[in-house]
Amino acid sequence: MIPAWHYDGQTATRYEVYVVAQDDGLRLDLGEGRSDVAPWGDLFWIDKRDGASVFGRKGADGWRVGIPLPMTDLLVRRLPPQSRYGGLVDKFGIWPAVAGFTALSAAVVLVLWKAPDVVAPLVPMSWEQKMGDAMVGDLGGRICDGAEGQKALDALVRRIDPDAANLRVRIVNVDMVNAAALPGGQILIFRGLLQEAKNPDELAGVLGHEIGHVRNRDVMQALLRQMGLSLLLGGVGGDVGGALNSAISASYSRAAESRADDYAINLMRTANVSPLPTAGFFDRLAADERKLGKGAVAMSYMSSHPLSDERRKVFLASARKGAAYAPAVTPQQWRAIVDACANDPDVKEGDLF
Ligand SMILES: [Zn+2]
Repeated sequence: MIPAWHYDGQTATRYEVYVVAQDDGLRLDLGEGRSDVAPWGDLFWIDKRDGASVFGRKGADGWRVGIPLPMTDLLVRRLPPQSRYGGLVDKFGIWPAVAGFTALSAAVVLVLWKAPDVVAPLVPMSWEQKMGDAMVGDLGGRICDGAEGQKALDALVRRIDPDAANLRVRIVNVDMVNAAALPGGQILIFRGLLQEAKNPDELAGVLGHEIGHVRNRDVMQALLRQMGLSLLLGGVGGDVGGALNSAISASYSRAAESRADDYAINLMRTANVSPLPTAGFFDRLAADERKLGKGAVAMSYMSSHPLSDERRKVFLASARKGAAYAPAVTPQQWRAIVDACANDPDVKEGDLF
């Protein structure tokens, strides 16, 4: 019996527990005779924190157990390896791994590190996906994943992007007017943005824009620019919180913004969704910014996706005269999306940072 701490992913409570290595998995004694067994194969290493090694559990967002270091040999043998870097790097060492996926010598690669736009497309998609999963896991139970809201949101995503199979769009229970693309095709919509949007077409424009960032692979580039080499050296189990923070506050270049807007406009045109509400939404957000001042909009959509008058005009100009546009989703679906967090009984609340 080894003392450890534990979050169950359902509540924000930190439990003091005892862990025991069993044949079928890691048993957590929760007190009052209750226990929970996490199968060995479901556990994955996250990071080292305050003298403890932290593990997550597949299929359980926010589930954590922190086991004080040093661990017993028995635990070390059964628990997943605590990699300092990513899987590839651990297997082969840093330089062969780097040179392996770029097919270039280490010296040339060093120069390339300085150019995120060159390096980002070279990051294997499997890395991106693991990174994105880890970042979503770090949100704990803050994803509003009630069936009805998520279903309606998925319908909206499919409506504007029929290729959406490799995207995962989720609503986060944080009162922040923002949306963010994470590595690996994950997109987060924050509750505050849903409360600010007046109709599904406005959300469709914002979503289309984030999908543009995903497809243009802007996300890794922005993260590399902010976090540098540490992002990749940290690997999947690295500074997850830092990467999440960076992804949410990442500020994209004007060129990337305008490419993502073009992408959104194309999606909406194909889906026959009007771009005019999105222009109106941008207008209102920009007015808020003028009213509240720049300081108040840190970590907001306006700071991560600078809103220029040009951007608004591009959406306005893309509307076809006399077109019979159809709403992105039905009013019932839109209600389900807006109320996704309110209708999720076990979602966690609270600020992220
Ligand atoms: Zn953007």
